[in-house]
Amino acid sequence: MFKELYRRLTLMNALILIAFLLIFSYSIVGFTNSTFDSSAKRSLFEQSEKIKNIVDTYGTFDFTLPNEGIGSGIDIENSYSRIEYILWNENLDLVNLSNLRENLLDVTFIQAKNALENRNSYYSSMTLSGVKYRIYNVYALTKSGSPYIIQVFQSRVIDDLITRQIFVVVMGIGIVSLIVLIFISAHLAKKSLEPVRQTYERQKEFIADASHELRTPLTIIRTSAELLTMKEDEKIKDNLKWIDNISVETENMSKLIENLLTLAQADNKQIPVEMARVDLSKLAYEAGEKFQLIAKEKGLELESIISDNVNIYGDKDKLNQLIVILLDNGIKYTPKSGKITLSLMNTAEKAIISVKDTGIGMTEEDRERIFERFYRVDKARFREEGGAGLGLSIAKWIVDEHKGKISVESQLNEGSNFIVELPKKRKI
Ligand code: ADP
Repeated sequence: MFKELYRRLTLMNALILIAFLLIFSYSIVGFTNSTFDSSAKRSLFEQSEKIKNIVDTYGTFDFTLPNEGIGSGIDIENSYSRIEYILWNENLDLVNLSNLRENLLDVTFIQAKNALENRNSYYSSMTLSGVKYRIYNVYALTKSGSPYIIQVFQSRVIDDLITRQIFVVVMGIGIVSLIVLIFISAHLAKKSLEPVRQTYERQKEFIADASHELRTPLTIIRTSAELLTMKEDEKIKDNLKWIDNISVETENMSKLIENLLTLAQADNKQIPVEMARVDLSKLAYEAGEKFQLIAKEKGLELESIISDNVNIYGDKDKLNQLIVILLDNGIKYTPKSGKITLSLMNTAEKAIISVKDTGIGMTEEDRERIFERFYRVDKARFREEGGAGLGLSIAKWIVDEHKGKISVESQLNEGSNFIVELPKKRKI
């Protein structure tokens, strides 16, 4: 699926680049052409004005102009850049000509006739022996008022040659850069798709894990219910174990679904985080009190060391959920007669919550992974504790929402210490 997307993205980028290259090359060629055209038209116009002046001044069509456009260059270049001329009188008799060549008069006569009949001057083009020319047909009047036609023309061989060369160079550079750009765009397409692919893979894993986690309690509930139906003649009090199973697993399932929902909504940024001033000291104190009884039931000591007046800007319910997750884990993963210490400290910039236990601890490898969804150090052993490996993912999400940091220090069989640092300033 991602390969196909990657292929399409690269192809689309390539097509856009090719279109861009063609537009760019044609614009450059078009611009060069129009620059040559306007400068050539200007030269033809100036030359025609010169001829008109001579006719006005000397009152004759009989003169010879020096070859215009002749520079110090090579002959072939001179012959191509030379501006030539033809003059016709009012009866369309040829009266002057700079240079005679094959078919010239056949082609120019028609244009001269046109200019005379329509009494207007116009630019045009013509081809002589395979060479293209620009021509300016001028309708003019002598001093005595009789019309005559001046035709000035110049070959466009050099202009066309330069334009073609520019086109070849632009296309050459363009094609080389196109190849490079296609490689770069393929690389970028791959890079930009990578996070999407990762999210997609994670989502797939998430669904697979969630279904797996839901299947276990459902199986237990179904088996217990089936067993109960088989014992329909027995008393309920003799089968409390199965009923208990059903109620514990239902409780587990609803906790799991609630956690899944929280994470799914968090991913979609659907959970409103309501920021306000929170008395963290009070919150921690109350959470510590609530867990006293649970700790005692398990034969654990729970100590709270809480600094007064620690206030931060945050979401009270989420912060409470965070402390509950950490305390709940501390109690879950600490064997009998261990100790859990909840402490809250205060610096100028941040509030620091720490939940320390003398429990089973974990290896360095586990330490790096426990904030991942569904990650549990010992999947089988802790099933009965009801954990699906989502608590710490939720804790991390809450800390992230508060722009804080969560970390863990832990030694296998010695205990763990979860440390949460929350900025006090309103950065959110
Ligand atoms: P769970 O619901 O399984 O507790 P969590 O996300 O809260 O899920 O924790 C993930 C895993 O991290 C746990 O399954 C456990 O293996 C490990 N863990 C969490 N807290 C502690 C702790 N205080 N001591 C040792 N291991 C812990």
